[in-house]
Amino acid sequence: MAVAKNVLHIKNLSVLVEEKKILDNFSLSIKTGQTHALMGPNGSGKSTLAYTLMGHPLYVVTTGTVICARKKLLSLSPDKRAQSGLFLAFQQPLELPGVEIFTFLKSIYYAVHKKTVAVGEFYEMVLQAMELLGIDPSFMHRTVNEGFSGGEKKRLEMLQMLILKPKLAILDEIDSGLDVDGINNIINALHVIKKQNPTMSLLVITHYQKLLEALMPDSVHVMQNGSITISGGLAVANEVFKNGYEKK
Ligand code: ADP
Ligand code: MG
Repeated sequence: MAVAKNVLHIKNLSVLVEEKKILDNFSLSIKTGQTHALMGPNGSGKSTLAYTLMGHPLYVVTTGTVICARKKLLSLSPDKRAQSGLFLAFQQPLELPGVEIFTFLKSIYYAVHKKTVAVGEFYEMVLQAMELLGIDPSFMHRTVNEGFSGGEKKRLEMLQMLILKPKLAILDEIDSGLDVDGINNIINALHVIKKQNPTMSLLVITHYQKLLEALMPDSVHVMQNGSITISGGLAVANEVFKNGYEKK
């Protein structure tokens, strides 16, 4: 069997936010098809990592290299990063008043894949994706995140993932603001997405035990003060659930 390649290779990444060093020689590699979990106390730099990878202008890279899907990520504009197969599911998805979900999905699909799909064909594709995720077809005609519950916002993120088929998806505390049913819904959605797109890799930033266990990560990393301090299997997560981050 061929050895799985890295979809993400981060080496010695240091990042400043408003002149304060937040990521400090951060390194991480993720192979094609793998799921990695990233834990760490509040303020350790998890979201900073996600925003830096997406190319948010506030996050200033001072050292390091990032290869994502065989491209030097740091030299690409945010839209080129998305085109290379990177997807970030936001903790607080933005509202786009007046923009219908169907139109939104069609424009992001075009922006990422540069492929025009006939409206009817795209409609079928969205309908099928919604069916797989158990989303009511009427959802398609609502406006993006306007008046959405936490669960509905996260379901739209899942729908985008299923339609865009990223190579690497980063989920930043996708569980935040969800009740038990909402979490179960996301877990089911992620299983469906993985099944449809088995080579997709996931970097899941979470503190939530149930989500972690359900995703059966290949590796669990604990981040503290801007770099990874421990990596291992689910035992690493269980240790954190039992004893917290203090002793690490
Ligand atoms: P985590 O996601 O692990 O909780 P963050 O990456 O959000 O941590 O934050 C790490 C540190 O960077 C914190 O000290 C935070 O105050 C700072 N930081 C992150 N984003 C910003 C920002 N947009 N403006 C100012 N400081 C920020
Ligand atoms: Mg965060």
